[in-house]
Amino acid sequence: AGAAGAAGEAELHVLLLLAKAERNAALRSKAEAALRSLARFAKLGPRQTLVLHLLSDAPSRPVGKAVLRDALRSAQFQHKVVFHDVDVVAEKLLPLVEAMQKLFSAGAGTYYGDSLFFLSLAMHRVLPKEISRIIQVDLDVEYRTNIRELFEEFDNFPEGAVIGIVHEMQPVYRHLFWQYRQEHPGTKVGEPPPDGLPGFNSGVLLLNLEAMRHSELYNRLLEPGAAQRLADQFHFRGHLGDQDFFTLVGMAHPELFHVLDCTWNRQLCSWWREHGYRDVFDHYFRCDGHVRIYHGNCNTPIPQE
Ligand code: UDP
Ligand code: MN
Repeated sequence: AGAAGAAGEAELHVLLLLAKAERNAALRSKAEAALRSLARFAKLGPRQTLVLHLLSDAPSRPVGKAVLRDALRSAQFQHKVVFHDVDVVAEKLLPLVEAMQKLFSAGAGTYYGDSLFFLSLAMHRVLPKEISRIIQVDLDVEYRTNIRELFEEFDNFPEGAVIGIVHEMQPVYRHLFWQYRQEHPGTKVGEPPPDGLPGFNSGVLLLNLEAMRHSELYNRLLEPGAAQRLADQFHFRGHLGDQDFFTLVGMAHPELFHVLDCTWNRQLCSWWREHGYRDVFDHYFRCDGHVRIYHGNCNTPIPQE
């Protein structure tokens, strides 16, 4: 790290996932908007390089390449792109996340391509030791600020925290934890901010890989059976991949997470407003301040500047 902190490091690592993109024009245009806005606002130090890690299946890679070339064409900062082979990563990943896939996937199977949606939680075991931090961001986002500022947040992690993450902005976990909430009146589980535990959204993730590697507690939670025990304790089943895991773990061990300001992942999806939660929706959805990253989740359009 050094005196300059995380944002002063020579290489700033960002991870992007692009899968099943070859016949998905909508996904492609979202990725274009995401990467163009990233490039437009990015400003780095004179000796800094933005390292973009693109993880994609073989048919999606040319799409990713074209989108990146277009977005970086007039970039005013040093950058490089590292392509990761989905088969290599998935092979390493599957044994680590198989149990989580069973608990937190929509389908019944453990299709290995889907293990990618659980990559973040075992990233510290997939990437080389030389990479100590990485920021993973969805491609249905738009930047309204310099991504370098997000790296500064690594310096605000309290002792014991391994991941920086923003709250989920819909009452989806209020819904999914209904049984636990019924059996534990007054619980903070599923309650809105500022005092509750609304769960997390994985659209923007600060992964302190070094801390993830060193945390005994975090690695214990990845062992076979651990997630299952938590899921039983909280009567929890999910379908949202890694963010279900982080949400569930966060209910039992909030100290593992550094909660980022909502403006770093201003989610826009409002599906749950119309599906039984109109009365409490705004307690979750509210986010004051200048938005730094918009997240057009569930295909929600992002407002123009
Ligand atoms: N993604 C992808 N191909 C897909 C679906 C998802 O590459 O077919 C990646 C993409 O980076 C996307 C992320 O996975 O941003 C999470 O999915 P999405 O943003 O659609 O989920 P949401 O935020 O709406 O829950
Ligand atoms: Mn998204």
